[in-house]
Amino acid sequence: MFANLAERLQDTFKKLRGKGRLTESDVTEALREVRLALLEADVNFKVVKDFIAKIKERVVGQELLASLNPAQHVIKIVHDELSLLMGGSNSKINLAPKPPTVVMMVGLNGAGKTTTSAKLANLLRKQGRRPLLVAADVYRPAAVKQLQVLGGQLNIPVFTLNDSKAPVAIGRAAADSAVQNGQDLVIIDTAGRQEVNEELMAELVNMNEAIAPHEILLVIDAMTGQAAVNVAEAFNSRLDLDGVVLTKLDGDTRGGAALSVRAVTGKPIKFAGVGEKLDALEPFYPDRMAERILG
Ligand code: GDP
Repeated sequence: MFANLAERLQDTFKKLRGKGRLTESDVTEALREVRLALLEADVNFKVVKDFIAKIKERVVGQELLASLNPAQHVIKIVHDELSLLMGGSNSKINLAPKPPTVVMMVGLNGAGKTTTSAKLANLLRKQGRRPLLVAADVYRPAAVKQLQVLGGQLNIPVFTLNDSKAPVAIGRAAADSAVQNGQDLVIIDTAGRQEVNEELMAELVNMNEAIAPHEILLVIDAMTGQAAVNVAEAFNSRLDLDGVVLTKLDGDTRGGAALSVRAVTGKPIKFAGVGEKLDALEPFYPDRMAERILG
């Protein structure tokens, strides 16, 4: 995960540490390298610009060059700002004051929505919830089957309405069923598309209005970098998301999506997918992620 970015930043800071006293041009040079490393990691251009500006401001403002261990100081500032960039602390999902909590999972096909729905049910069950998975991807019978298979593997019930092509009806019936069966968490796997389009957005907006979920989570594929951030912006402008799940962080991702999505959309990354297995979903901790990147 972020191997290139981590290596480059760690190299930069190693050089800085080796210097003892720092001149202003040492710091400028280091920040130039940080900037390039972030751009190469596919972090949004404007996000990088603001990020570097903030660090410069803090470095200059702190009489850093006279401090006892200036390199360490700069590194700490970068660490803090990197963590803040990703949201600072872990954000949890909104729970309904009166159960069941309804979570609507949205995203493009292939991002990992169906798998993530099952993983999330599994993760939250470990935290004491009683989940119900809902197959509302009405366009792809294969997706319904996939969710049933995953639910079967986890021994988590999967709600479907045979022959219904109306996601709103499915969602409502699922919430009723959850109440009757004592399930306090309803996770709806909605239909995606190959790309963002008006038909998809209208469908999801309609579902949001009819079902009023407590949480809308967008699933995006970290491997697609800046494209994933654009997807997040498009979904957020229509659905006012509650959070994002970043999948495939186990792959050879450059890191751009993880570092940009919060700054661009204002919405937190709440979970990270780190593998294909059903236990490979983790709460997302910005500070730990910053630590991983900076070594
Ligand atoms: P959907 O079309 O959005 O519902 O996507 P799926 O849930 O079918 O996932 C598409 C592919 O991505 C599947 O092969 C999943 O196993 C894989 N996938 C999902 N999340 C992750 C992840 O975090 N890591 C890896 N390596 N693969 C993932």
